[in-house]
Amino acid sequence: MELWYTEQWTDEVRFSIKVNAHLHTEKSPFQQIDVFDSQEFGKFFTLDGLMMVTEKDEFIYHDMITHIAMATNPSIKRVLVIGAGDGGTVRELTRYKTIEHIDMVEIDERVVRVCEQYLPVTACNLTDPRVSLIFDDGLKFAALAKKGSYDLIIVDSTDPIGPGEGLFTIDFYNHCYRILSDEGILVNQNESPYFPFNRREMKRAFSKIRNTFPIARAYQAHIPTYPSGHWLFGFASKKFDPLKDAQLDAWEALGLKTKYYNTALHTGAFALPTYVKELLTEDE
Ligand code: SAM
Repeated sequence: MELWYTEQWTDEVRFSIKVNAHLHTEKSPFQQIDVFDSQEFGKFFTLDGLMMVTEKDEFIYHDMITHIAMATNPSIKRVLVIGAGDGGTVRELTRYKTIEHIDMVEIDERVVRVCEQYLPVTACNLTDPRVSLIFDDGLKFAALAKKGSYDLIIVDSTDPIGPGEGLFTIDFYNHCYRILSDEGILVNQNESPYFPFNRREMKRAFSKIRNTFPIARAYQAHIPTYPSGHWLFGFASKKFDPLKDAQLDAWEALGLKTKYYNTALHTGAFALPTYVKELLTEDE
């Protein structure tokens, strides 16, 4: 008998992966958590039936959510990560010796524990002494944090349905603005331009961020296991433009080895297809 994981990308489109084994299933207080093993993508985990991380392509997402901001301002010292329970974003951040502290605020402790058990490839550095793990709602945490406390906020969240909804609101972005330093940068996973649900959320998130920050841009990556494979990230900042101000030579000098990100791609990732540029600038 063949076992397949199937994800509904739209009412008319599905994406399937042949599965060797269903390794784990549980319902946490926040969401349904499943872990599978497959030949093609290795182990992967899903929340509420949506793909979060696969062993094979996680490096693309985690490189791109982290290194663009760090190469724009290599002096970043205080970081807030929201969501990111698989640990991949913290793994990349902890490679920078210059980062002094990382607060990671994840709503669901079970995601972290399950990933520590099944996905050590991402959840491998959550015990770094610079990391504080906080199990709380990111919106609530941001609302209570002090003005100017962070140089970088990374929003590594689920889609804006279920627990992730509050992380796509104007309230949340206003708090992010307030708690960032004058040189602060916000990076968020900004959905996909291709299928209607993701496209709608992509436009809504980007237009709210653009109305909150003086500098707001979107950049792209190819992530095979996310709907359509074409994914965007948002880059917003009070001061730094990710192209004009990027310190690419300083980043190169760090000698970090990356599998997806490089300094040519840093610039190239902001070159968006015409239809995407139009979607991001047209009124909702
Ligand atoms: N790379 C993934 C993607 O885009 O599909 C995101 C993965 S990461 C595991 C997303 C995490 O955000 C989940 O573990 C989820 O529990 C967490 N999350 C969702 N809503 C949250 C909230 N309001 N506050 C903090 N964490 C939240």
